[in-house]
Amino acid sequence: MANDTPLPPGSTIGILGGGQLGRMLAISAAQLGYRSIGYAPEGDNVAAPICGDFFENGWGNKPALAAFASQCDVITWEFENVPLAAVEAIPPRLLAPERRALEVAQDRLKEKRFVEELGATCAPYMRIDSDEDLKRALERIGTPGILKTARDGYDGKGQWRIASAHEATGVRFPGRQCIYEGLVDFQAEFSVILVRAADGTVRFWDSSANTHEGGMLVQSVIPAGTAVEGQVEAARDIAKQTADELAYVGVLTLEFFATANGPLFNEMAPRVHNSGHWTIEGAATSQFENHIRAICGLPLGGTETRFASIDMRNIVGEDALSAHAILAEDGEPHLHLYGKLEAREGRKMGHVTRVSGSRA
Ligand code: AMP
Repeated sequence: MANDTPLPPGSTIGILGGGQLGRMLAISAAQLGYRSIGYAPEGDNVAAPICGDFFENGWGNKPALAAFASQCDVITWEFENVPLAAVEAIPPRLLAPERRALEVAQDRLKEKRFVEELGATCAPYMRIDSDEDLKRALERIGTPGILKTARDGYDGKGQWRIASAHEATGVRFPGRQCIYEGLVDFQAEFSVILVRAADGTVRFWDSSANTHEGGMLVQSVIPAGTAVEGQVEAARDIAKQTADELAYVGVLTLEFFATANGPLFNEMAPRVHNSGHWTIEGAATSQFENHIRAICGLPLGGTETRFASIDMRNIVGEDALSAHAILAEDGEPHLHLYGKLEAREGRKMGHVTRVSGSRA
């Protein structure tokens, strides 16, 4: 890209991926007078009803990708596992962020090395390509630890916890490149979410404290507490350097563990993030709107937090079926349901944000 000249109202934004993040991006795009077109393989594409048009085609379908791209003024993604070959079928001048952000963030080894070169610290880890590598890593790093596929993991999928040396004896190399990393004894987990404009302007939202269950985010809370607040500055420094190095345009998320020895980088997402959903009601401008503003060359909005306390919880699986009951609660909870057809166990179906007290 980049759009140094703002895209006028009526321009078309292409979104690769059809999930809830695409849905919320398309809502923000519509609010700013843009049209969205989505592209994703056949499935429960909940972004589709919000988009002006939606291509349900495979990632390998080059003619369909070309037809999609020919209708777009800018193209972004809501899902970091879009195959690079699909992104390469799109003219680079249309992409925001650029392809390299996806390339780095799709691979746990690449992203860890990338941020380490910028001065970040990670949990001890080793690359695993065989049973022998795994044996060596278990000897050197020890247990407890986590074996993670290097690519294509999300929401705790492609991860195996190894609690003890005894448990380790039964674990085999899963046949695809992995990393093994030591389990971090963290005080809290937090994310740094920033937006970067094409001119290099960077703004950060406040960091929430994030709670995961089974590898999946369940709750984000502000204020994040002292353990996180004391480490946000160092983490922001890494996140800003990452964004600058990638000439990043749009919203970028880096996840960290707050530990007794400072922030440890866990992973990055080159996109809007579940831990930033609270920004819809809780910040001056949401992560979704600022992503659209950045990729369309519009002035960025403020990222200040508007409330004294904010609590965002995911609605998972069948809990969504009774979620409308939340609307009867005191305190004006903000309910978001994603319109997914099947309430499968462990599936993110929506979220609810509760805010209270104004910021002094
Ligand atoms: P990831 O997909 O790497 O973000 O992992 C999902 C979640 O699993 C993290 O947010 C943590 O709650 C947990 N987790 C992952 N790696 C580690 C680790 N090395 N030590 C402790 N917890 C971890």
